[in-house]
Amino acid sequence: MALFEKQKSYFHMGNTKPLAHRLEALTLLKDAIKQYEPKIIEALHQDLHKSEFESYMTEIGILYTEIDHVKKHLKKWMRPKKVKTALTHLGTKGKIHHDPYGVTLIIAPWNYPFQLAIAPLIGAIAGGNTAILKPSELTPHTANVIDEMISHTYIPEYISVVQGGVDVSTELLETPFDYIFFTGSVNVGKIVMEKASHHLTPHTLELGGKSPAIVHDDASLKLAAKRIAWGKYINAGQTCVAPDYVYVHEGVKERFLELLAEAIDALYSTDPINHSEYTHIVNEEHFKRLTRFLDNGQLIKGGQTNSDKRIIAPTVLSNITFDDAVMKDEIFGPILPILSYQHLNDAIEMIQKQPKPLALYLFSEKSITQQTILDELSFGGGCINDTIYHLATPYLPFGGVGASGTGNYHGKYSFDTFTHQKSVLKQTTYFDLDLRYPNQKHGLKWV
Ligand code: NAD
Repeated sequence: MALFEKQKSYFHMGNTKPLAHRLEALTLLKDAIKQYEPKIIEALHQDLHKSEFESYMTEIGILYTEIDHVKKHLKKWMRPKKVKTALTHLGTKGKIHHDPYGVTLIIAPWNYPFQLAIAPLIGAIAGGNTAILKPSELTPHTANVIDEMISHTYIPEYISVVQGGVDVSTELLETPFDYIFFTGSVNVGKIVMEKASHHLTPHTLELGGKSPAIVHDDASLKLAAKRIAWGKYINAGQTCVAPDYVYVHEGVKERFLELLAEAIDALYSTDPINHSEYTHIVNEEHFKRLTRFLDNGQLIKGGQTNSDKRIIAPTVLSNITFDDAVMKDEIFGPILPILSYQHLNDAIEMIQKQPKPLALYLFSEKSITQQTILDELSFGGGCINDTIYHLATPYLPFGGVGASGTGNYHGKYSFDTFTHQKSVLKQTTYFDLDLRYPNQKHGLKWV
């Protein structure tokens, strides 16, 4: 692939590596996003009917914070890290160098089409790499803005956008990139991992899955309802870390459901179908897939749809079990199934039987309950008494585990992801330890 070869040559010229170059590239990125803000917001509205408020909060503002944080700390992160010397290695010095990988590939999904393309790019630049970015074909207006913005900001041999669908993605994955950063579904993640194995390319997979929200009987119920409603229905549920389903203690279920309905009305109005601030479903196929779940269990809130505009009101389904269709795969839409438990251990056992989730949320006031969940359940990351918020801080690594992903990023973790830790041992030439050589008499010999 010609573009890949161009980037490879450019990388070997060494221009991408100096701190000054990386900092300037990050400044250029922030300036470009600022300049393109109106176009980005317009494109997100055209693709997903995202409101300006949501677009700024979840797609743009978060990137400014990330760029500022990386620029502030990059010099320190880039410094080779001295390590201790073992007694057996007397006379040596060990250092870890943070080596750029080279030419990186970033494949992005459609649900936060701007943020999820640009956030990994910040890591690629900070790591001193070149990058080819493939945005999602399902959000074409945003892909066009990303393409225009990047081509006006950088030379193609440094950072470039390649647009297209599965065929283009497949061709890119045949290329021997030095690193692949993929965000998307579990099924495509498996394809990416298989393709990466052909060239033994190191990679990060940011995938999805069914993320539970557990509401225990000692939870602050009103806040739990509000924070779950926010995390579930933001972006119309098309969020990788949205609470996929609620697992609530039977003793507080009815009260929780009342409060949840109130929170939905307060956040998304009593007429969400006609509410201008409410995100639409990305396409016809996903709209149809989601509406098939509406007859599962007992509909207790929402359920209204508009097929012309692909809108589904914030919906709550009660009396759901793991056998219902809505519980088979990640929902990725504004439909919230409610399951209940009598003993926390029963909920833990059921969650342990599912693939490891990308996120888990626990609502409970007692530290013993909180500790039990942390000890018993494996998940990518999550919150106690909140939803989604853990991904918005540059100080926490964000990523999945097992079926929900491999690797992580954000802040320093993005720098670590996009650099190889090259261990280098510098040996002294003043003396030699003969002990390690065969047929040598002396322990230590001055040279
Ligand atoms: P997707 O896997 O269908 O597509 C993601 C990207 O892969 C797109 O750019 C697409 O063109 C490409 N692609 C699709 N099919 C391919 C194939 N067969 N071979 C090679 N490339 C292919 O995912 P999506 O529908 O865009 O996004 C939704 C999924 O992404 C959900 O499962 C969600 O949970 C997950 N997600 C995860 C995160 C995270 O950070 N962990 C963030 C957002 C979304």
